[in-house]
Amino acid sequence: MTFLLSGIQSFSKLWKCSPCFGLSPGHSCCFFLSDYCGIRNQQRWFSLKSMSPQSTKAGNASIAKARYLRKGDEGSNKQVSSDSPHLFAAGAAKKRSQMNPQSNDQVLSPLKNISIQLPTKPLNSKEWDKLKEDFKGKANFENWISSQMAHCHSPIDVAKSLLAWVAAKNNGIVGYNLLVRYLYLCVFHKQTSEVIDVYEIMRARYKRLESGGYSLLIRGLMHSDRWREALMLLEDIKKVMTPSIKNYNDCIQGALLHQDVNTAWNLYQELLGHDLIPMLETLKAFFDFGKDIKDDHYSSKLLDILLYLRNNQLYPGESFAHSIKTWFESGQCSCCGKTMESIHLSPEEYEFLKRKIIRDVIDGGDQYKKTTPQELKRFENFVKSCPPFDIVIDGLNVAKMFPKARESQVLLDVVSQLAKQNLQLLILGRKHMLTQRFRWRKDEMEKVQKQASCFFADDISEDDPFLLYATLNSGNHCKFITKDLMRDHKACLPDIKTQRLFFKWQQGHQLAIINRFPGSKITFQHILTYDTVVQTTGDSWHIPYDEDLVERYSYEVPTKWLCLHRKT
Ligand SMILES: [Zn+2]
Repeated sequence: MTFLLSGIQSFSKLWKCSPCFGLSPGHSCCFFLSDYCGIRNQQRWFSLKSMSPQSTKAGNASIAKARYLRKGDEGSNKQVSSDSPHLFAAGAAKKRSQMNPQSNDQVLSPLKNISIQLPTKPLNSKEWDKLKEDFKGKANFENWISSQMAHCHSPIDVAKSLLAWVAAKNNGIVGYNLLVRYLYLCVFHKQTSEVIDVYEIMRARYKRLESGGYSLLIRGLMHSDRWREALMLLEDIKKVMTPSIKNYNDCIQGALLHQDVNTAWNLYQELLGHDLIPMLETLKAFFDFGKDIKDDHYSSKLLDILLYLRNNQLYPGESFAHSIKTWFESGQCSCCGKTMESIHLSPEEYEFLKRKIIRDVIDGGDQYKKTTPQELKRFENFVKSCPPFDIVIDGLNVAKMFPKARESQVLLDVVSQLAKQNLQLLILGRKHMLTQRFRWRKDEMEKVQKQASCFFADDISEDDPFLLYATLNSGNHCKFITKDLMRDHKACLPDIKTQRLFFKWQQGHQLAIINRFPGSKITFQHILTYDTVVQTTGDSWHIPYDEDLVERYSYEVPTKWLCLHRKT
């Protein structure tokens, strides 16, 4: 009995989350299992996606169980109970419910009564007539088939051929239900121009719509140039009822999409005013939009959202949490929301640093220790003959990053991944890398050379001066990859001001590889966008400080900040 109840509950919840509003709940759910299904996360177990009914039947229930057993506890229920987590730990309830697999079957039962195959391409009237004859169900055929098509996300042209057939039989009239289901498909397939056509038809024929029709139109119109009309539809809904959180979500997302921040915040206020709990998706949208906005007023509103989460005991999902993190790292104080000073050098600072480095580090008195004048000349000419680079890579340093993997393979992985993003790459290497050996395979090095410009220095040369020269020479956008922290070069610089500029430039331009598993996709450490330095705006101060128990090296920066505001 309990299981039946929980089945029903999750069912109605799913329906509310599904995009199939406007249709009857019983017909709107498909289940599928995402790749790494979660014991951890209920949301992940059941996602809504387009899928043909044939493949969602009983088969998935057994897959679901199999996956769970494989991923989780290897079929041992004992294990589940023996190390059962804290009562309030995330996922604990889910884990408990997993112990009885019956609950899985419960939610996978609604898709049984399909007696005929849905068409996969447009049919002519004769074919529709024939299909109707074949239909043995008791329900009205047009009604039944249109709801099945909506449910299975049939292609637009197939649905359109159904409407044409129905219209031809009824003096050009298509019933409201059919129209709404067609609208649903247009919205689902993001066919905006088709949405607008249906909108015009509905506007001409009906004075008012029911909420399902309004909701679909709002969702469909928000992505178009006529998004403001969706706001008017929202007003129409308000005349008879409180709009749903989904309506608000769609309108807010549309307003943000069209850069109308004020409208978005006003709608959000209105939503809260109705005592509705906004969708996390809505809140996430504000954060996603916020990362490109440098505005203290906007920031303080985002901080209000965080307080709202706190006060209502709401928890962001993983991708929402990621959005919050991205916004913070985009350079706002997590305490007051003020934008911090940028890590980017001004054009004057950049030119100043470039000149100093080329003179003091590269051409400096001890250049013979690092390279020969001939080689330096050869390199300068090479750089001049290339377009500006986006990323300069210390080839040897990167190749040795994963000691267990073959050097040339690691280098090729990094280069291939970056080349896919259409970046101009420069690989700095040594001549010995071109001699075929076990760790430096010729075929792999040839592939590297096809995807990037390469410069191979004498084996005795030091790479860093070349790296600095090529990067600085390419311009302020150019980044570099090496594990080396280049403290020696900082020390070569003549004064504190230049050293500080160098360190600032380094923080903003050095990419570090953090992925440690060769073969998988390479990930880079996030570059901070703000400068870690004591800063003030007059009435506020931001002061980075060291924590007592954290030992910080000179090439690291504090992560804690003191945020001070003068009382006015
Ligand atoms: Zn602050």
